[in-house]
Amino acid sequence: MVRVQSKTQKAGEISTKLLAHYDEHARELPWRVPPHESSDQPANPYHVWLSEIMLQQTTVAAVIPYFAKFTARWPTVEALADAEEADVMAAWAGLGYYARARNLIKCAQAVSEELDGVFPQDEGRLIGLPGIGPYTAAAISAIAFGKRAVVVDANIERVIARLFEIDTPLPAGKTEIRAETDAITPDQRAGDFAQAMMDLGASICSVKEPDCALCPVSKYCRAYNSGKPQAYPVKAAKKAKPARKGVSYWIEKDGNVWLIKRQAKGMLGGMRALPDDGWRAGANGHAGSPVDANWRMLDRAVSHVFTHFSLELSVAVTDSVVDENALPPGEWWPVKSLDNAGLPTLFSKAARIVLAEERRR
Ligand code: SF4
Repeated sequence: MVRVQSKTQKAGEISTKLLAHYDEHARELPWRVPPHESSDQPANPYHVWLSEIMLQQTTVAAVIPYFAKFTARWPTVEALADAEEADVMAAWAGLGYYARARNLIKCAQAVSEELDGVFPQDEGRLIGLPGIGPYTAAAISAIAFGKRAVVVDANIERVIARLFEIDTPLPAGKTEIRAETDAITPDQRAGDFAQAMMDLGASICSVKEPDCALCPVSKYCRAYNSGKPQAYPVKAAKKAKPARKGVSYWIEKDGNVWLIKRQAKGMLGGMRALPDDGWRAGANGHAGSPVDANWRMLDRAVSHVFTHFSLELSVAVTDSVVDENALPPGEWWPVKSLDNAGLPTLFSKAARIVLAEERRR
């Protein structure tokens, strides 16, 4: 009994100190309502949802310009629901993990058409929407609607693992981390609390060099007090990623390059791309060139790391006349405006290699 009381008191002290620190030092982010305004001016659920989807596996710095571009072009969830899929995919190009963009469109359509443009407030109903998993549902419920929800992203995971010296390796340790986060999440201001924890993890409690002298909860931090904060979170040994090889094909004619649209399902689905030899996560490319031509292999290749494998993508170039009837379905795209094609990063890198090579010749 005494233990429970003491834990509750400690939990209350931790959340109070974190919120006070957040009130003073909250990061200014375009989708965020500053803490002193958040009680009477709730965050825009569309902005919170959009930012949380963009922030999955992606840094804040990378997301900010994309968030600005999306909200300027599609200021409401209804506007996004009405957008052409190709335009949204092109606007997303470079942000990676393209399944997020496809789910973004589906979710916007579901909210717009089935829910009158109003995002649900409860985690349980949010989870039913395309692309919204437990973390995102909790974040939207807490940040946009002030509901008590237990929010655990990678930054919060690290802070909690250190605060409570959780030595069960991830991912198994996630259960304990969630339980400890639950224990210190307050009933009031749960959204601000989640953002306070995110900020602490993104700034002071950094991966390599936590600045514990500035931390508002160092007094309670077991890892700090035992002198080894960097040892947490403990991670299970990583398996080496398979290394795959493939070839992309640059077919040029009269200042235009031939672009295909990748199949809707599968990696980079629905995106414009250079033709390739059919490489995939489970196998090297083996299909050969898409059309007979006089091919020249470039010396440089693209190195790209996906979640489950790495890819070395060679680049073959031709500007010889090809039988256009034999080309895979696609379109000629002006090389000068290739930036507007919405190519995924992998193929943008290949294009840069070709263009750099041409400048040298
Ligand atoms: S004391 Fe250090 S390790 Fe502990 S939560 Fe604060 S910054 Fe992180």
